[in-house]
Amino acid sequence: MSSKRTDYITWDEYFMGVAELAAMRSKDPNTQVGTCIVSGDHKILSMGYNGFPRGCDDDEFPWNRENDNRLMTKYPYVTHSELNAILNYRGGSLEGATLYVSLFPCNECAKAIIQAGIKTIVYGSDKYAETEATIASKRMLNAAGVRYYQYQPTGREIHLSV
Ligand SMILES: [Zn+2]
Repeated sequence: MSSKRTDYITWDEYFMGVAELAAMRSKDPNTQVGTCIVSGDHKILSMGYNGFPRGCDDDEFPWNRENDNRLMTKYPYVTHSELNAILNYRGGSLEGATLYVSLFPCNECAKAIIQAGIKTIVYGSDKYAETEATIASKRMLNAAGVRYYQYQPTGREIHLSV
């Protein structure tokens, strides 16, 4: 009798991998972020990536980061992956869920995460740690008792042929 495989991917690798896969759907030329929300018993509840709301055409709305007219930048329109994942969920409550995201959530997403009852965040990059958005985000998450920790890359390479 053969024994079971031992080189299977961990839960963290699996769900962070799914978040990274979701990010590949983003049309944003500069920043691609993905989110995967998971239940306490390791079921994927929802996924999301950064993009414009439904009906807001990717070819008509701007993807620019800079313009004298802010209405000609992406910022007023783009929905972040975390909020999209929360809003995409139609199954009921996300109370107690864990959110995997490739980039630390901004303050606006932190509000949604807290109010949705999500209790744990596993994040990839924290490259905007010094920005007001991230500082405010951590302040709120700390106050609300949302646990967060950085994903530790294992160095495993996962190849998919599609
Ligand atoms: Zn955000």
